Amino acid sequence: MPVFLHDTMSREKRPLLPKPGREIYGMYCCGPTVYGPAHIGNFRTFTVQDVLRRTLEVGGLKVKHVRNITDVDDKTIRGAQAAGQTLGDFTKKWTEKFHADCKALGLLAPHVEPSAVVHIPQQVAMIKALVDRGHAYVAKDGSVYFKVCSCPDYGKLNHIDFSKLETQTENSAGEANDADEYERESASDFALWKSRKPEDGANFWPSPWGEGRPGWHIECSAMSLAHLGATFDLHGGGIDLCFPHHENEIAQSECATGVKGFAAHWFHSAHLMVEGEKMSKSKGNLYTLDELVAKGFSPMEVRYTLISGHYRSSLNFTMKGVDDSRSALAKLERGADRLLAAAGFTRAEFAAPVAQEVQTSWGRFAKAWEVLQDDLNIPGCLGQVFTVLAEKDEPSAEQARQDVSGLAKILFALGLELFVVKAEVAIPADVADLGARRWAAKQSKDFAAADQLRKDLATLGWTMLDRKDGYDLKKS
Ligand SMILES: [Zn+2]
Repeated sequence: MPVFLHDTMSREKRPLLPKPGREIYGMYCCGPTVYGPAHIGNFRTFTVQDVLRRTLEVGGLKVKHVRNITDVDDKTIRGAQAAGQTLGDFTKKWTEKFHADCKALGLLAPHVEPSAVVHIPQQVAMIKALVDRGHAYVAKDGSVYFKVCSCPDYGKLNHIDFSKLETQTENSAGEANDADEYERESASDFALWKSRKPEDGANFWPSPWGEGRPGWHIECSAMSLAHLGATFDLHGGGIDLCFPHHENEIAQSECATGVKGFAAHWFHSAHLMVEGEKMSKSKGNLYTLDELVAKGFSPMEVRYTLISGHYRSSLNFTMKGVDDSRSALAKLERGADRLLAAAGFTRAEFAAPVAQEVQTSWGRFAKAWEVLQDDLNIPGCLGQVFTVLAEKDEPSAEQARQDVSGLAKILFALGLELFVVKAEVAIPADVADLGARRWAAKQSKDFAAADQLRKDLATLGWTMLDRKDGYDLKKS
């Protein structure tokens, strides 16, 4: 049975299968803008995409996963100038950091990771095709704009009717409209090529319209064409990219190539909230992976938290939630250990299932796999896994062997690695001492003393998490 997934454009759940006559399933995902560390909101999208890719592979599809690197835009140019570095050095540093974070979170590297800077000739060629076909025009300063009114079905992804739109080369304040992004439902002609400005510094390239640099939207159209062709199977991104970025991608690509059906399926993941609030710079809650690791969480615990909600619902990321993920992973490890013992396997034999090697047996995890294949219902799948692991009766050795095969494949699809040695955060001696004294006070039911010691720990920036049989100390 194929995976069924909600498609943003048709608003239906549809099977994910390669186009007839093709063997490879091509997916394009909008990648990071490399001007700083990615935050957990970005990683929610990338992690959910990773689970989709893994699920397709476990299901037996050959996937070609393309995810671009945005290494030229307003933010990267400003960032490089502020850092006193060349654009290339600056974006290389942040690309490497992104790769390190992805690896820690267990994200499979995409098969192709094209860079926008490397694909400037392809972007220029596509803009030229749009000008030649009458879908773009050159402004007085040498910038090139996409003419939205030349594309009658512009808005089809977001179900917005823009048919009455006039050509707009200026915004309402009378300034040239060269912003990379604009507000939902205020569509306007958008920049394909931005003419060279003094603030761009050394970052400009030649084009038939003079020196400049590409606008942001065109890179994904050019790079998906270069690596997946004029039409491909699935396009993914965070919901914030659905408009205008993805609408613009469709318009650029279909108008430039003359081929309709740019992406057969649109996959968007919902927003991430932090402690019930919208993420924003001003609130200081744009957590990076490093910040969470400094709080004592492991990347695998962060990953579990990021995938624990349904991808179509907004996820409330909380520190309590990451703590719960720690307990859930420990519970998975205990359950897996029991199955391994019953099957006569070691942990090492469980660790590395090969995705492409599709074994027939799912054991008692067949239902969990079925649930995962139905619109990537990760929470439902995990619920099924825990239901099986909670069954009291000891399985036979044969049953346990099949179960191990099924569980290993489910965990591979979710990208959850068990039995990872956790990096311990060093606990200072005075903190350890306070912790031991508080535990002793609690055991002897001296709650007033225990409460005071908890406050002393908090003053030093530490929290104590009590378990039935002991406690953990965690940096708060
Ligand atoms: Zn994109």
